[in-house]
Amino acid sequence: MARIVQKFGGTSVGDIERIKNVAKKVKREVDQGNEIAVVVSAMSGETNKLVDYVGEMGAIYDAREYDAVVATGEQVTSGLLALALQELGVAARSWQGWQIPIRTDGVHGKARIERIETDEIDRRMKTGEVSVIAGFQGLSPENRMTTLGRGGSDTSAVALAAALGADRCDIYTDVDGVYTSDPRIVTKARKLDKITYEEMLEMASLGAKVLQTRAVEMAMKHGQRMQVLSSFEDLPGTLVVDEEEIVEQELVSGIAYSRDEAKITLLRVRDKPGVAASIFGPLSDANINVDMIVQNVSAGGNATDLTFTVPEAEVKRTVQTLEAVRDVIEYEELRSDADVVKVSVIGVGMRSHAGVAQRMFAALADKGINIQVISTSEIKVSVLIAEEYTELALRSLHTAYGLDGD
Ligand code: ASP
Ligand code: MG
Repeated sequence: MARIVQKFGGTSVGDIERIKNVAKKVKREVDQGNEIAVVVSAMSGETNKLVDYVGEMGAIYDAREYDAVVATGEQVTSGLLALALQELGVAARSWQGWQIPIRTDGVHGKARIERIETDEIDRRMKTGEVSVIAGFQGLSPENRMTTLGRGGSDTSAVALAAALGADRCDIYTDVDGVYTSDPRIVTKARKLDKITYEEMLEMASLGAKVLQTRAVEMAMKHGQRMQVLSSFEDLPGTLVVDEEEIVEQELVSGIAYSRDEAKITLLRVRDKPGVAASIFGPLSDANINVDMIVQNVSAGGNATDLTFTVPEAEVKRTVQTLEAVRDVIEYEELRSDADVVKVSVIGVGMRSHAGVAQRMFAALADKGINIQVISTSEIKVSVLIAEEYTELALRSLHTAYGLDGD
C-alpha cells in the first residue's frame, strides 16, 4: 500500500468525458489499496477566460477580487471529479483551498504556501475516502482566497504530497514524461526514466515547460519523489528524484534551449573599478533579469567590450535604462540582437567528469556554428548562438553526447 497524491492538469480534465476518464485512473489506484488524494486544475482554457473577465472590468483591479474570480475554475473541476468518482462507487469529497486550509502569505495572484493543516484529509484518507482538492488556491492571513500564480496547481500538489507524507506525487499531463531534448525538433529524443531535481529545475527554467519551476523547487526541498506521466496513455512516466536514486548517471541528461534571449553589447566601456556595478545596478533596479555575462580584458588600453543577455521582452527597457546612464558608464556604442538562442547541456554527471564543455564546443565547431557567449554552472554548460542554428545545434549535441534513441 502506498500513499499517493495524483495531480491532473487542465487538458486532462478538459471536458466531462475526460473527467470521467480521470476518475477511472483514480479508482485504479484506490482498488490497489492505495491511499489517494487528488489535486485538480481548472478545465483547459477556463483560467484564461476568468483572467480575461477580470481584465474587461477595468485595467486596474483589486488583486483580492482577481483571486476570488480566477480561483473558481478549480472549484468546478474538484466538484465534478468527486461526483465522477462517486458514480464509480468510490467514496470522494471535494475540498477548496480555504476548507483544508492551505495557508499562504497575502501576496494575491502569486501567493506562497506557508502551511497546510492536513489532519482532516489525513484522517479521511485512512478510511479510504478520496479527497479531491482544488489546486492553485489557498487562504491568506486575512482569510481571503489567494491563488499561487499561473500553473500553480503543480505546486499545490507537491506541497500537499510533502505535508501528507506521500510516497509519490504523480503529475498527470498531456506529455508522457521528460525527454532528453525537445522531441518536436530532435526526433531521436528519448523519454527519461529518471531525472534529478536539479536537472529538472534547469530543464524547466529553460523552457521545457512540463512542470512549474516552483513545484520542482519545493519537491527538491522536501525530497518529495514525483513522477510526470500522461493522463491519456497507460505508460510509466519520468520519475523526478534525488541524485542518490539514480544508479547509472549519464554524463549529460538533456539538451535544452531557450529562444527567449537577447544579446546586449556595450562597446568600448571604460575599464576601471565600479563599471560593472554602474551597468548592472540600474538594470537590477529596473527589475531586468540579466543572465549570461562576458567581459573582455582591455587590450592595453583603458576600454573594453561587455556583453550580456536579457529576456527578449526586456530589450527595449534595457536599452532605455542604459541610455539614461550613458554619462556615468561612458560606453561608445550599444548594440542589441534578439536573433540568438541559448542552448544548454545539463547533467549532474558533469560534476565528476572533465571534458563535457569541450565536447560541446567541438560538436558546434564541427557544424561551423559560432559561439557568442558561454556560461557554466556545476551541472550545466550554456552557449549563445545565432537563432537560425537552433535545430542543427540541438541535433548535433544530442548525437555528440550519445543521447540518440532509435
Ligand atoms: N488553472 C491555473 C492556471 O491555468 C493553475 C494550473 O492549471 O496549474 O494557471
Ligand atoms: Mg500546468
